[in-house]
Amino acid sequence: CGIVGAVAQRNIVPILLEGLKRLEYRGYDSCGVAVNNGGLKRARSVSRVAELERQVDDSGFAGNTGIAHTRWATHGVPATNNAHPHFSARDGEQRIGLVHNGIIENYEEIRTELKALGYVFESQTDTEAIAHLVNHMYDGDLLSTVQKAVKRLHGAFAIAVFAKDEPQRIVGARLGCPLIVGLCDNENFLASDAMALAGSTDQIIYLEEGDVVDVRLDGVRIYDRDDQPVERRVQTVQAYS
Ligand code: GLU
Repeated sequence: CGIVGAVAQRNIVPILLEGLKRLEYRGYDSCGVAVNNGGLKRARSVSRVAELERQVDDSGFAGNTGIAHTRWATHGVPATNNAHPHFSARDGEQRIGLVHNGIIENYEEIRTELKALGYVFESQTDTEAIAHLVNHMYDGDLLSTVQKAVKRLHGAFAIAVFAKDEPQRIVGARLGCPLIVGLCDNENFLASDAMALAGSTDQIIYLEEGDVVDVRLDGVRIYDRDDQPVERRVQTVQAYS
């Protein structure tokens, strides 16, 4: 339903939670946030974003790179284990974190394949199959991995993904669901809706169908569905109050 992601040199958890609050008007049944802070950590709730915020405040949860989500369930009931971000582990360590809007039509096929390879599914979502797929294909470079992984997905998606071994990097991709990039000095953002970033930047790029974006501290690079680098227009959105 709603996605927010941030790469910065300060603690981004307040930015992510503010973004989720700005997306609450769209409706949701659960929410969650994850940071890459030497390891992947997450908090999830089947209640409101305010409750997620209380969990986060109580645990001293912080990081410079993070992703967050409000979920409107399509596959799997509203429950903590079905809430995003979804993680995928290898050798007992969480390596990939992912949030997703939309529906993956061929998730059962991917799920069956990855279960046979030993990946443990902890949710009933279509989304978790993408997290394990990215982990399975991961070659140390999240951008090229996501470029390959999304070619296996049928359906509609906007995703934001991070990898434990690549701090200060988030990769996003969209097909059939909106995803935007927010630009600022030495901090950059991803969101499903420009409104989510209203407190942080008014410099927005609307990604096009099939785009994959590499979000880092010093800038963003966008690639089209054929993996060719492309320029997309930066727009100044009207400030919301
Ligand atoms: N299909 C995913 C799920 O059920 C994402 C739903 C959404 O767009 O929030 O978890």
